Amino acid sequence: MLTILTDCRVLRRQTEMESSSSNPLSEALFSPSPWYKDLMPGFRELSGNELAAHQAPTIHSGCEFTSVCINTATYLQWLVGRCLASGVALKRCSLSHVASAANLHHSGSPASIVVNCSGLLASRLGGVMDASVTPGRGQIVLVRNSARGLMTTTSGTDDGADELLYIMERAAGGGTILGGTYMKGNWNPNPDPNIANRIMKRAVEFCPELTGGKGVEGLDVIRHGVGFRPVREGGVRLEGEKMDGGLSVVHNYGHAGWGYQGSYGCAERVVELVDDALRAGKEKAKL
Ligand SMILES: Cc1cc2nc3c(=O)[nH]c(=O)nc-3n(C[C@H](O)[C@H](O)[C@H](O)COP(=O)(O)OP(=O)(O)OC[C@H]3O[C@@H](n4cnc5c(N)ncnc54)[C@H](O)[C@@H]3O)c2cc1C
Repeated sequence: MLTILTDCRVLRRQTEMESSSSNPLSEALFSPSPWYKDLMPGFRELSGNELAAHQAPTIHSGCEFTSVCINTATYLQWLVGRCLASGVALKRCSLSHVASAANLHHSGSPASIVVNCSGLLASRLGGVMDASVTPGRGQIVLVRNSARGLMTTTSGTDDGADELLYIMERAAGGGTILGGTYMKGNWNPNPDPNIANRIMKRAVEFCPELTGGKGVEGLDVIRHGVGFRPVREGGVRLEGEKMDGGLSVVHNYGHAGWGYQGSYGCAERVVELVDDALRAGKEKAKL
């Protein structure tokens, strides 16, 4: 089991509703009339009683809907298995230029199209060097404690604009993620103990059931982690490019904090762009 369907709660705090400050993760997620209200199954606004269970004085409003929680550690392995079963040849290496990927085709002949999914490192890959891509540093604490299936997030915290509160219990015994941060431009790969303490304190105050009333001391920590969301000013780059020398490159990077949830839609667009490049190649060959 790689994913679970779960009830997701999105809580809007008074602070963010009354000020112009926006959540770095996604302003749209916390809109009182969100774009996804007709899309997500079971979408509803929370009642006063339900809000009261979440420290009502600080919560303005909130909504709930059915969503998906992915255990990425197993999901990515499953995807690799699907690729291998479909005949994909995998090679592992470090590239200094995007065009050099064309020479890695398993047939031995150079490929005419390269799909560039280099994420954050599109900022450092030769032939791309996209200066608008920066890390959105995310620090988390993974614990064994159960959140009783709860997946929730708030529009902000009292600990600064780049600190977040979210709790996600993953499928298949993947533990519960306590988050987090969204620190733009920060490349520090090491968990900061002070941030970790604030993450755990916020999570337990918000969801005391995590430790059965034992406070932060009751958290059973598996590990502390840091990841870098590939943030791109202006949004994802999903487009084709013809390079000098005729190589077609389809770019698909800069998905910030939504790379998993947007992956199927972006992949469909990549297929269209690859088809466009193939067609253009055939037409040119005819001329
Ligand atoms: C704390 C945190 C929480 C998140 N939560 C969510 C969430 O709830 N939902 C969601 O959808 N997303 C979430 N994300 C975001 C998600 O992880 C990213 O959007 C996604 O991983 C981006 O995938 P990608 O394949 O584009 O880039 P990456 O996963 O970064 O993959 C890029 C790959 O390209 C390789 N590469 C780059 N340059 C080179 C080179 N020169 N040579 C060889 N290989 C190269 C890299 O090694 C890497 O393997 C979260 C991220 C973090 C850090």
